[in-house]
Amino acid sequence: MGKSKRILITGAAGFLGSHLCDFYIQKGFNVVAMDNLITGRLENIEHLFPLENFEFYNHDVSKFIHVSGDLDYILHFASPASPIDYLKIPIQTLKVGSLGVHNCLGLAKSKNARVLIASTSEVYGDPEVHPQTEDYWGNVNPVGPRGVYDEAKRFQEAITMAYHNFHGIETRIVRIFNTFGPRMRLNDGRVLPAFIGQALRGEDLTIFGDGSQTRSFCYVDDLMKGIHALLLSDYHLPMNIGNPSEITINDFAKEIIELTGTNPKIVLKELPVNDPKQRRPDITRAKEILGWSPKVSRSEGLKLTYDYFKGMSAEELEKRPHDNFEKYIKH
Ligand code: UDP
Repeated sequence: MGKSKRILITGAAGFLGSHLCDFYIQKGFNVVAMDNLITGRLENIEHLFPLENFEFYNHDVSKFIHVSGDLDYILHFASPASPIDYLKIPIQTLKVGSLGVHNCLGLAKSKNARVLIASTSEVYGDPEVHPQTEDYWGNVNPVGPRGVYDEAKRFQEAITMAYHNFHGIETRIVRIFNTFGPRMRLNDGRVLPAFIGQALRGEDLTIFGDGSQTRSFCYVDDLMKGIHALLLSDYHLPMNIGNPSEITINDFAKEIIELTGTNPKIVLKELPVNDPKQRRPDITRAKEILGWSPKVSRSEGLKLTYDYFKGMSAEELEKRPHDNFEKYIKH
């Protein structure tokens, strides 16, 4: 058997980062995990601490990254990723998507490692093309509330392409669409934990706008497989990974009510500024190039996710997302 691959995962204590840690530990990789824990949580990865092939560094990747020894791969997943989080910490969001990715690319160059960066469907903004293909350039408001995240991620793609073209390093860009699963933070403000938290606390479900806006939700295990297939491929242009099964937020609320067996009222709140009206990935490229498509249905994924949230203590359930909410919806 060959030597185990060594992989650096930034944002390792977050929702996606922690699932990546599990995924690569199961594959027998040596995992170097890094996170500064501003939105990530150690609980997500502490089960890995006893393992010999797992190391964790509490480090802000917007500062110079030092890793001793060889690295085969770098996955850059550090970033606040929910609208509430990136409004609360806008400068860190911009820094991790610019200085942070620059450090990762520099490290990749010095280690001769392949780097995959986490981009997002937010690069398409409030899309005028539906479903979104990778060739679409997007409709982003740089100075709107989402600009700090969207533009950081767009810059991240640009610098990644520049390192690929200018320095010839091996790069991969995944555009991740709404993903859900265990370890989402109950208070991150995103629709799924918001609705489940409200249902479990016996509160009203808050729908923003008239609820006709759409999203397409991908279960986290499918995303992991798509990311891995992309990492091992020789494709360096952006790749959408997501589940094209599209649903309105109104219908999604109904699914959560059914799932939780609760009977909440629905209240309509103001639609946040620049909230995309529709979103669905065109995954033709992923199907053709990677042979990947999602396998877990929304209903199956929702059951698995609900099992995670159901197990939470009453104290955890009390965590609400609304720190910076006024700013989020201010026009
Ligand atoms: N949303 C909602 N009620 C909530 C939280 C979110 O209706 O309590 C809406 C939000 O306005 C958006 C959709 O649900 O249209 C998905 O929001 P989320 O923050 O999960 O992700 P994103 O907008 O980044 O896709």
